[in-house]
Amino acid sequence: MKLLERKVALVTGAGSGIGKATAELFAREGARVVVSDISEVNGTLTVDEIKKQGGEAFFVKADSSKPADNEALVAQAVQQYGGLDIAVNNAGIGGPLALTGEYPVDGWQKVIDINLSGVFYGLRYQIPAMLEKGGTIVNIASILGSTATKYSPAYVASKHGVVGLTKAAALEYADKKIRINAVGPGYIKTPLVLESLDKPALDSLVGLHPIGRLGEAGEIAELILWLASGKSSFVTGAYYPADGGYLAQ
Ligand code: NAD
Repeated sequence: MKLLERKVALVTGAGSGIGKATAELFAREGARVVVSDISEVNGTLTVDEIKKQGGEAFFVKADSSKPADNEALVAQAVQQYGGLDIAVNNAGIGGPLALTGEYPVDGWQKVIDINLSGVFYGLRYQIPAMLEKGGTIVNIASILGSTATKYSPAYVASKHGVVGLTKAAALEYADKKIRINAVGPGYIKTPLVLESLDKPALDSLVGLHPIGRLGEAGEIAELILWLASGKSSFVTGAYYPADGGYLAQ
């Protein structure tokens, strides 16, 4: 028996990296996947890949920073598949790199809009769709949801916010069969990291992970799968790092 047999699972930012790996893993585990992304090209490629492997999925273009897009996304999932069992709020950006005293104000707003408000808008419309039958929600935070780094104040603040929001919502819905958890990846080899840093910067990041390498998107997807599935039935309001030992130091 597959872990997510016939479950309806929505994944935002599923056109790349962690979201793509998660959508594909969910489909292999039997879920019907609503693949969402702001990039139609990349989101459609994820759907094609899922179908090639014999899975079931369709694409919905949505900007996570827009409340109406989140509402329409959930409505389309319910309309197409008859409900919503699982949601992964994964869409996110790194944003500009600058000292707080010099940080571009519009860059701050964009990071907060996508990484933090986007997760709230997701919860805002996913929770009502789960109230009748229950469900699981996984929010993608970061190791920077519990520690900080220089030059990324908006990202660090947004991810701390995601961890707090996850706990607050989990408390409210714990007795309504909706479990809500957060994941804190260390540095993972996805376009978000690989396209924003040069080789020396990437090499120095490796040194921050006691395991001696950066992570793979598929390794984060496995943790998301566990949190989304019935295997984690007593887990809610939790923040799980998957970071090669980064936070243990
Ligand atoms: P990625 O850049 O590979 O993928 C992010 C996806 O989100 C892209 O497909 C992009 O089109 C989409 N997206 C961006 N803005 C969007 C918006 N407004 N609405 C909808 N979709 C949007 O990045 P990734 O590394 O896979 O990151 C996924 C999540 O994991 C993010 O929340 C990120 O902050 C978090 N994370 C990543 C790392 C890492 O090292 N890669 C570490 C910790 C946390």
